[in-house]
Amino acid sequence: MAFESLSDKFQNIFANLKKKGKLNEQDVKLAMREVKLALLEADVNFKVVKRFINDIKERAVGQEVMESLTPGQHVIKIVNEELIKLMGEEKVDLTTSSEPPTIYMMVGLQGAGKTTTTAKLAGMLKKNGKKPLLAACDIYRPAAIKQLQVVGEQVGVPVFTMGDKNKPVNIAKAAIEAAKSNGQNVVIVDTAGRLHIDQDMMDELIEVKEEIRPQEVLLVVDAMTGQDAVNVAENFNEKIGIDGVILTKLDGDTRGGSALSVRAVTDKPIKFACIGEKLTDIEVFHPERMASRILGMGDVLTLIEKASEAIDAKKAAEMERKFRKAEFTFDDFLEQMQQVKKMGSLGDIMSMLPGMNKQLKDVEVDDKEISKVEAMIYSMTLEERNNPAVINPSRKRRIAKGSGNPIQDVNRFIKQFEQAKKMMKQMSGMMKGKGKKGLLN
Ligand code: GDP
Repeated sequence: MAFESLSDKFQNIFANLKKKGKLNEQDVKLAMREVKLALLEADVNFKVVKRFINDIKERAVGQEVMESLTPGQHVIKIVNEELIKLMGEEKVDLTTSSEPPTIYMMVGLQGAGKTTTTAKLAGMLKKNGKKPLLAACDIYRPAAIKQLQVVGEQVGVPVFTMGDKNKPVNIAKAAIEAAKSNGQNVVIVDTAGRLHIDQDMMDELIEVKEEIRPQEVLLVVDAMTGQDAVNVAENFNEKIGIDGVILTKLDGDTRGGSALSVRAVTDKPIKFACIGEKLTDIEVFHPERMASRILGMGDVLTLIEKASEAIDAKKAAEMERKFRKAEFTFDDFLEQMQQVKKMGSLGDIMSMLPGMNKQLKDVEVDDKEISKVEAMIYSMTLEERNNPAVINPSRKRRIAKGSGNPIQDVNRFIKQFEQAKKMMKQMSGMMKGKGKKGLLN
């Protein structure tokens, strides 16, 4: 799971800080040393780490923090804000050309996930009402054209190809003409990658870029390669000039180094994150939400968005309100669980709930787990579902018996649920009135 190891370390560091109550400068310094090590181990660029730690230290030893009643929370808040800053503050949308078609040119090394991502992006744009056309300009890798046709078909987006005997720049130009005459308002050009950066590839990409003048050049990099991904981004940006980065395989990147360094090193925004092999596994990259996931605060907003795709808008709005107010009940939880199969893997969904990250690691989450939890909630009375506080030991025994689960499992589930709820309340309290949008406020 993305950022898992970094997230675990941060949660331990902060748990220690919070335990301390009052903090002195030495406490903050020690904690920052641990944060620094955690970031370096996560393969974050060392210059980025240095700057990051200095910025935090400066703010964290300030009077406001030292004199506050909850200095630990204050430090976490500062780390959260600095993480968001590091990843670019606000999400950056794709720009659209005023004169259709809008052209996006995809570049990247072989194996980074460029072809897959091209289709994912096309599918996402199509869902948003656009009419995309894919241009197959990778004429070198055997089967690249076929691969694009296969994934194009899966997302229901046509693919323009002229085989592998024409120059990529000519194929791209012809695709744009074809889009114009067919009323397709977006052309996504899939270019050829190489195993390593080489001059031929760069020259060809520069030629294509100059001829077709894309609205955006989007670089696809494999997050699992850590600092290599950052070097690739720096290189492509210097040689070709890129407008944004798409990070792939974030699902397998437990460290998160590239996600945390790309923006700071290249000054180019990460626009999308790909989190799985399925063609729907693409998300708009929100720095705030990523920071929140890294700190183990969950990602309620993405969860709500995923839910709103599966349930109607009114319900989603109500759910959002409940999350904010930490009012959600077992019934709400049950409803979420039932949407899970539609939304993606349960592990992904649960990891977006505040406080769930750590516990999740020890729980094998699968369909059996869903049925178990469903059975426990079904064995509760309506009152218990809406007001978990009434669940005393004898009720727990009844729920365990009714659902066919050991009492320990019932205890553990209720505890996790309460922890998540408590965390949400703390978070919304912490963020209140600070004028920060997102998170839980
Ligand atoms: P290309 O050579 O850059 O065009 O790369 P491909 O699109 O062929 O992808 C290479 C491999 O990475 C394929 O097996 C993809 O299924 C896989 N892949 C791409 N994106 C992701 C992702 O976000 N997560 C995971 N787990 N695998 C991915």
